[in-house]
Amino acid sequence: MDLRRLNTVGIVPAAGIGVRMGANRPKQFLEVNGMPILALTLGTLQDCGAVDRVIVVAPEEDVEYCRGDIVGHFGLDKVMEVIAGGERRQDSVRLGLEVAGEDFDLVVIHDGVRPLAGGELLEKVVLAAGKHGAAVAGLPARETVKEVDEGGLVVRTLDRSGIWLIQTPQAFSTEILRKAHERAQREGWSEATDDAALVERLGVPVKIVRGSERNIKVTTPLDLEMVRFLLERGG
Ligand code: C5P
Repeated sequence: MDLRRLNTVGIVPAAGIGVRMGANRPKQFLEVNGMPILALTLGTLQDCGAVDRVIVVAPEEDVEYCRGDIVGHFGLDKVMEVIAGGERRQDSVRLGLEVAGEDFDLVVIHDGVRPLAGGELLEKVVLAAGKHGAAVAGLPARETVKEVDEGGLVVRTLDRSGIWLIQTPQAFSTEILRKAHERAQREGWSEATDDAALVERLGVPVKIVRGSERNIKVTTPLDLEMVRFLLERGG
């Protein structure tokens, strides 16, 4: 199979409200060096040869802002639609998949709040999904991982050697991801914090691609400072 011919759509969930940041704007719209985080993230997909079109999923009240001040302003012409998201991340991705329709072989999901993933990582994950059907970026845990109960007491220590911390991008054959989301809807799987978790429940093996430490998920004010620092140091 010639992987370069696989038609790939990016879905960028950016419909969260970001309560952990404590800012008055959702974190994907906060600016670093004069550019909203979401514009930086979309710029990576725009410049990546492995991605053909992009669907952005935004909070309902910010759809127009995203169309004009982000997609239009920064000339992100791979973006085919900006749509309103759902209550959970899982709902936002499902709505994006509905818009993608039947036209794409692969779908790559990438969180709007990860501006520094880089085109190379995106491409590696898309290629791995073309080969294996499902692939996610991740890094091996560096710290000791313990399970802790609600009272703050350690339940047990996990064997770190098998633990990976998972990022986006995550890419899948469109057919597999659609099946996973349909099944999740039908059977009420609601605890998934990423798309791979739904695909795993179908019994489909998911390939790990080594992610990047720069691929920060902007969650707290410190994360934003880190992104600013890395960008100022030269991207
Ligand atoms: O909530 P979490 O930090 O896992 O969010 C990861 C990404 O999913 C963010 O880019 C956020 O905007 C997006 N999201 C979404 N729809 C939701 C909740 C989160 O698109 N309902």
